[in-house]
Amino acid sequence: MSGIRVENLSKCFGDFRAVDQVGFEVVEGELVALLGPSGSGKSTILRIVAGLESADSGKIYLTGKDVTNIRTQNRRVGFVFQHYALFKHMTVEKNIAFGLEIQKQPKGEIKRRVSELVDLVKLNGHEHHYPAHLSGGQRQRVALARALAPEPRVLLLDEPFGALDAKVRKNLAQWLRDLHDRIHVTSIFVTHDQSEAMEIADKIVVINRGAVEQIGTPREVYENPESRFVASFVGNVNVIDVFAGKGRVRISGIKKSISCPEATENEDSPAVILVRPEDLSLSVESMKRGTIPARVVSVHYRGSHYEVELKLGENCVKCRVRREEWQQISLNNSNQVSVLIRKFKFFSAQEGHSSVHHMLKQLGYIE
Ligand code: ATP
Repeated sequence: MSGIRVENLSKCFGDFRAVDQVGFEVVEGELVALLGPSGSGKSTILRIVAGLESADSGKIYLTGKDVTNIRTQNRRVGFVFQHYALFKHMTVEKNIAFGLEIQKQPKGEIKRRVSELVDLVKLNGHEHHYPAHLSGGQRQRVALARALAPEPRVLLLDEPFGALDAKVRKNLAQWLRDLHDRIHVTSIFVTHDQSEAMEIADKIVVINRGAVEQIGTPREVYENPESRFVASFVGNVNVIDVFAGKGRVRISGIKKSISCPEATENEDSPAVILVRPEDLSLSVESMKRGTIPARVVSVHYRGSHYEVELKLGENCVKCRVRREEWQQISLNNSNQVSVLIRKFKFFSAQEGHSSVHHMLKQLGYIE
């Protein structure tokens, strides 16, 4: 059953089209991330779903009901903003109770629900504290409890951890995922952080320039990006020119070829492969089976790993190497290495190089 359905949503601010025919569905009980760069229209979409903003065209359904023309107050949505919109003059308890008091719920019921929510967001002992005396993460947990108090049909979170530092943000993202696994409220979570989206979402809707680029599970979006934008925004990717035919591909400027069953042409034809930096392995053993020679151009320390730039024939590629692996390689003191391409995505050429480029352009892989 559909928890949220967004159909053909468009919105302009003056001449600027902020949302362009956006459509997606959130199955009941799912947590979906709207992922895209700053200014791509994510918050505007969320605000339209909440009824805080009106669309120029399109429809919004919440639990099967068309709410497009229904006021926010009657949509029964819970909303969490990036900047803690807590009432500063109210305690944690009063903040959480606010929505229930507006609904004129019986006092006993309000007390029971507030206590249940304080437990849920693990703020026991802070019930009588004011927002000024809480950490950023605690304030966002109050905001979440307040949004959940009136038992909304759906929960909408607009970069809820955006103002917090990286470590707190990561912990809260994991905590939110665990919480969602317990309460299963249909939710949309807006973020520009791809690792956050991958970590918490059941499904990701990738937004670029107001439009949907791809919808899929974190794994589908990462392993099978449908456009260059998605490939580069959700992780990094190398685009490598090759010649392909007879079940093999050969990188431009290199004699050795590698196996590729999809390269079915009889003659060598220009084509392209896409390789994630972590799908390349380096070694110093030059004759290792299946490897190709490369030259190290630069090395950057990245904490958990090294980012190594290589010249692979005529292509420059980036490679992610584990610390211990790089220590072994660097002992050799040579900038010549062997590269194993463990995984790649192949794009064939039916009618020569220009058609590959045309196809890649249509797919959005190249400009
Ligand atoms: P961010 O992560 O930076 O919030 P976003 O993807 O959520 O970005 P939106 O806030 O939805 O993007 O904004 C999309 C575009 O619409 C931006 O270029 C923004 O400047 C513009 N925009 C948003 N709200 C308004 C408004 N009320 N009036 C004019 N332009 C607006």
